[in-house]
Amino acid sequence: MREHYDYLIVGTGLYGSVFSHEMKKKGKTCIAIDKRDHIAGNIYTKDVRGIQVHEYGAHIFHTSDKRIWDYVNELAEFNHYVNSPVAVYKDEIYNLPFNMNTFSKLWGIKTPAEAKAKIQEQIEQLHITEPKNLEEQALSLAGTDVYEKLIKGYTEKQWGRDCKELPAFIIKRLPFRFVYDNNYFNDRYQGIPIGGYTGIVEKLLEGTKVLLDTEYRAFLSKQEQRRENGEDYITFDKVLYTGMIDEYFDYCLGNLEYRSLSFEQEDLPECDNYQGNAVVNYTERQIPYTRIIEHKHFEFGKGEGTVITREYPAEWKPGDEPYYPVNDEKNNALFEEYRRLAAKEKNVLFGGRLGGYKYYDMDKVIAAALDAAAAED
Ligand code: UDP
Repeated sequence: MREHYDYLIVGTGLYGSVFSHEMKKKGKTCIAIDKRDHIAGNIYTKDVRGIQVHEYGAHIFHTSDKRIWDYVNELAEFNHYVNSPVAVYKDEIYNLPFNMNTFSKLWGIKTPAEAKAKIQEQIEQLHITEPKNLEEQALSLAGTDVYEKLIKGYTEKQWGRDCKELPAFIIKRLPFRFVYDNNYFNDRYQGIPIGGYTGIVEKLLEGTKVLLDTEYRAFLSKQEQRRENGEDYITFDKVLYTGMIDEYFDYCLGNLEYRSLSFEQEDLPECDNYQGNAVVNYTERQIPYTRIIEHKHFEFGKGEGTVITREYPAEWKPGDEPYYPVNDEKNNALFEEYRRLAAKEKNVLFGGRLGGYKYYDMDKVIAAALDAAAAED
């Protein structure tokens, strides 16, 4: 017996699950596989005593696209969480993103004019005309003090590279403003789904058959084997692949680089409030982790005890989880070559952070998946 589907979705993260949801609306059938033992990819959240633990790092939903905000609000109720991380540098505490609270703490000043003058004074000594890399971009935006205390160490830890070797766009993700406003994002809409992200993906995958602990290649050979043995097997017309694009092609053009992370989770049932904020960044180079997340603060302290996670950046090597594509010139050029191969691959679509080798936020992932689904007939 042949079990046939219109689409095989490889990866049940946000991209794959939105795509499958949309294709179902069009009357198509989908089967989804995931190599992990749970759905939802890196937005997976797990309930620990009423605390939604973001198992693969903090995920704060933010967007300026009303279409996307309405889309996610159909799937879950969002709370009014606003991300306001705190940075620790040596024994000093600063508000993020870089704003009047940060500048006032740094220099003891009060007004935007004073802050601008201070930064200008530092920038003038640098003589940077056109920023060519992250270091120059950061320095010409924020001056030496902000760069040295709050950017350099953190960024070099996160990316495992000198700031001079990193693309400037990474730092442009961070707002920089002369008002007393600690909201990390400039977006119009922001929040955390009450009860976590896993429920959203469950809803998106309603009506899709899901096979966990199932790796793509192993799945294909297993079906082939079953067919040869005269057993029931699964077939499909098209594939949506959301894994690493270079892995799909057996790294035939070489390795794309990624950054990985390792998470050290600590369950503290007796502690009510560990750090007083959901996200605390450690911007010093000497401290090996970049941040500590205290998950209960994403939902305003709900749940018993607390759970914290230290996030350690790591170089990616085959077998590790890839979290961030390294979108520098060299890797982007290699990705373009893979993209040309991908375009020739019949009946296979590629998407998501790994399939598209792009440092996407969640709202951009959803938008891209909606567009990809709309382009299908
Ligand atoms: N960044 C920094 N200091 C901080 C936080 C962020 O210099 O305390 C810079 C760093 O270069 C980082 C980038 O801003 O790579 C983006 O940070 P974001 O928090 O957006 O990263 P994500 O949450 O996606 O890991």
